[in-house]
Formats: sequence, C-alpha cells, structure tokens
Amino acid sequence: MGKMLRKANLKTPTKYLTPNQRLKLARQSIFSGTFAGLSRLQSQQLRQLILANINRQASLSDIMEAAKKIADLTESQLESIIRTERHEILMTIQEQRLKLLDPEDENLYTWLGPSDSRTSAVCKSIKRRTGNGVHLDTLKQIVEEEATKHNPKWVMKDWTPHPSCRHTISRFYR
Ligand SMILES: [Zn+2]
Repeated sequence: MGKMLRKANLKTPTKYLTPNQRLKLARQSIFSGTFAGLSRLQSQQLRQLILANINRQASLSDIMEAAKKIADLTESQLESIIRTERHEILMTIQEQRLKLLDPEDENLYTWLGPSDSRTSAVCKSIKRRTGNGVHLDTLKQIVEEEATKHNPKWVMKDWTPHPSCRHTISRFYR
C-alpha cells in the first residue's frame, strides 16, 4: 500500500515545489536557440506558450492548438518542437523534486516509456542499462552517454536524449 502511494505521487511533479520554483526551473531549462524553420520571434512565442502552460499542466493537444496560431509548420514539426522542449522542462522539474524527496540519493530509478516501433535506439539502450535501477546521477550520466553515442550531433540538455522523447524518470523498487 505504501509503495503504491509513493508510486502514484511520482506522477505529480508539482509536489514540494512551489509554482514560482517550477517556473524558475522551467525558464532555466528551456532551450535558447531558434527552432528549425522558425524566426527568432516565433521561437520565442512558442517558448512563452510552453512556459505559460507548465504550471497549468496543459495537455499536448491544448498546446498544439495554440501553437498553430503562432507558426505555420506541419503538425508533426510543431509536435516535435513542443514535445522536445516540454520534455526537457518537465524532466528538470522532476529531477529537482526527486532530489528534494531523496537528498541522500538512496533511491533507484529506471528510464520508463513506451516500447513500440517509435522507440528510439537511444532509449532502448538507456532502458537496458538501467533495468535493475540506478541512482539519479548515474541515470543522468547514462542518458547523456547514450545520447552522445547514438547521435553525436544532437545538442542535448540534461534529460532529453533525442527529439520528441517520450521516456521519463521512474522510481525503481527492488
Ligand atoms: Zn526517448
């Protein structure tokens, strides 16, 4: 029972961080270059949109609808930009939250996400290497190592090993 509760709590990355702290982290983690095919202004507007929706925990489709008014890109291009940026922000918030909950870094984590035809080779490797649970800093290091190995050109931030990643940090219980 206790285990189940702790697991359920992990799905709410807001816990123990105030909205202002979340926003600050989100601003820090947001990528600062322009997105392919977009002007600097459009890129900034898209980022503002994603930031504005972080504390509301808006769904991807809500953000997509608003994004279409900003930039004239295909649906899949927009989706890729938004997913990538959102992933980085949410993972940064998640990391800080987990550090608050587990300051001694005693807990173990894995890389959790769907296994289907869209699953990247990068994430498959990360999952393989973290299948028995690893500490948070080790997980972060493995994510970075695999991202660099599979796609040296990918300009990554801490937790996003490739565009449109659907994987997240998940608590591992022995
Ligand atoms: Zn991935």
